Amino acid sequence: MQDKCGIAGVYSHSKSDKISRAIYYELYALQHRGQESAGISVHDGNEMSTYRGMGLVCEVFNNGNIKGLDGHVGIGHVRYSTTGKSKIENSQPFFEEFDYGTIAVAHNGDIINSMELREELKQQGYEFKSSTDSEVICRLLTKEYTRTGDIVKTIQKVSKRLTGSYALVILLNNELIAVRDPMGIKPLSLGKKDDITLIGSESVAFDVLGGEYIRPVEPGEILVINDEIKSFKMENSVKPRRAHCVFEYVYFARPDSILDDRSVYEVRLNIGRSLSREYSADAEVVMPVPDSAITASIGYSRESGLPYGEGLIKNRYVGRTFIMPNQEERENSVRLKMNPVKSELESKKIVLIDDSIVRGTTSKATVDVLKEAGVKEIHLRIGCPPIISPCYYGIAMATKKELVASNKEIEEIREYLGVDSLGYLSVESLVECIGISKDKLCIGCLTGEYPTELPADIEEYEAERCTCP
Ligand code: AMP
Repeated sequence: MQDKCGIAGVYSHSKSDKISRAIYYELYALQHRGQESAGISVHDGNEMSTYRGMGLVCEVFNNGNIKGLDGHVGIGHVRYSTTGKSKIENSQPFFEEFDYGTIAVAHNGDIINSMELREELKQQGYEFKSSTDSEVICRLLTKEYTRTGDIVKTIQKVSKRLTGSYALVILLNNELIAVRDPMGIKPLSLGKKDDITLIGSESVAFDVLGGEYIRPVEPGEILVINDEIKSFKMENSVKPRRAHCVFEYVYFARPDSILDDRSVYEVRLNIGRSLSREYSADAEVVMPVPDSAITASIGYSRESGLPYGEGLIKNRYVGRTFIMPNQEERENSVRLKMNPVKSELESKKIVLIDDSIVRGTTSKATVDVLKEAGVKEIHLRIGCPPIISPCYYGIAMATKKELVASNKEIEEIREYLGVDSLGYLSVESLVECIGISKDKLCIGCLTGEYPTELPADIEEYEAERCTCP
């Protein structure tokens, strides 16, 4: 049920336009947000068609030779791999026919109270086809829309029942609707290409089409897109605070994306600069754990004056090691993914930059590889504070007890990893690097303080939901 995903939407005013290839390219640019499955739903003014499959976007859509998906409006989704639930029924968009036509929903985020809502709907006689939150959302939407016949009122009502994070694209007949949860936990942006309206989890989805980023979909905003774009607000009795996910900036988003008007690249350069100011080191060279720490390493190098070097070369055709099914395979997969450049490492004192430490498995294996290659000293710098608590909003991290920093002091982690020194960016510095005030960010994974209510029995919730292996 944990959906750490990417979503996309396209609306063309020209009814004869076929936009499924545009969605395909958007999803291609968002591939890093999910590699398990991909799907597209389009509407041509008469009917909706959907195609979903397991695998990468290019595999599912036959390298862009999309046949039978004709329409001028549509949505798309890429889904992240999670244990046990890797099956076609759980791929998105989730779609349904109902009394008022057709609806398809693609969701990025995690609805914390979805089990409760699911139970309630089951008791009302609804049978679920998948274990995704999007089906729960879809069901709540069709139920309410059948009563009101008004999509804005429907979303306003349904949003009051949802706790957690949700960025949504909805295809209701031939209208495109984009929704962002009231706290704006997950990113969502509005863009355009000529007179075609674009929606995407990240602005790279617009770049790939030669389009432009216009602005973020605001927290609590409902955009109804047809021949016009109309903006509505969710109705909240108490105005919720914003809570943009810090981890999007640290690791998850592409560095060439703009999220909430902030350049991820700039943020990561800032992270490197701050790390250099906070933790200088007596070293000869600064090197990234590729690829996610490259930008921060450049920042560190510029600030410290240490030359930037490459000590590890990444095999770009290996998926993210994090998703390997067990610990042993994860450890081996570091060797599959990264190979040391001995001549750059032998007898050298290095500053090694990584974006984050979650379980510590990757860092430990990386350190071992570097030591075998003959490195003299490793000064490890992490572009994020210690991750001490799980994410309940859609970043598949780990359970609390698996997080290395949840039960170890920094000195113990240093010893466990076998590095000469270890420095983590502080929460205050990270907030400063992002440039959004702390009260507008979600830093739950760093502090254990979350912006929404959590389920009453958190242990049972953790055991039941599908976390990362
Ligand atoms: P580990 O400490 O072995 O659990 O792995 C941490 C590394 O995995 C970091 O260096 C990140 O580059 C990467 N990483 C962090 N969070 C995630 C995530 N949610 N999904 C996939 N990879 C991640």
